[in-house]
Amino acid sequence: MNEHYKFELKPLPYAYDALETQISDQTLHFHHDKHLQTYVDNLNKALENQPQYQSWALEELLKRLDELPESIRTAVRNNGGGVYNHQLYFDGMAPVTTTMPHGKLKDAIVKTFGSLEEMQKQLKTAATGRFGSGWAYLVCNSDGQLEIMSTPNQDTPLAVGSCPVLIVDVWEHAYYLDYQNRRPDYFDSWYMVINWDMAEQRFEQCCCK
Ligand code: MN
Repeated sequence: MNEHYKFELKPLPYAYDALETQISDQTLHFHHDKHLQTYVDNLNKALENQPQYQSWALEELLKRLDELPESIRTAVRNNGGGVYNHQLYFDGMAPVTTTMPHGKLKDAIVKTFGSLEEMQKQLKTAATGRFGSGWAYLVCNSDGQLEIMSTPNQDTPLAVGSCPVLIVDVWEHAYYLDYQNRRPDYFDSWYMVINWDMAEQRFEQCCCK
């Protein structure tokens, strides 16, 4: 993601009802149009009087949080992280049955975890085990190895040198309208709408540097 200030809300790459039965039209409207818009607006607000950081790409800002002035560090961490994580999350989904795990990513998952099912199981454990709000991921770590991880709030794997291949939002706003307190059911539904073509692309970007 190379875009920099002034950040804009990217439209969803599918119709609002495209994931219906897994994730509702209503959830996507609130989640994308309201929640993500707020992160975009607040990130822009944090940077509006900081011309020296306006040319920094989003990933740069999040990798180099420690170099930012204290007055904007938390705002960039929370809102920049919110923009980064959500863009990958929305881009990472597609209507059911469009793709299946395939290619180099599938091979790497089997090599690392033993099977696709084992990776899915470990990712679900990370997603359901995250206390409070946060995210779960399949990442490529700084050694180029696949790994399951989780972050609280809007923190990103970039801060520890890892790169997200799969990403699932486990904030209640991601599922409460459709699943109420049933985060495990939401995870199972999310897993059905993973855009595996995108995941393969992310794998190339993250693990084949
Ligand atoms: Mn969210």
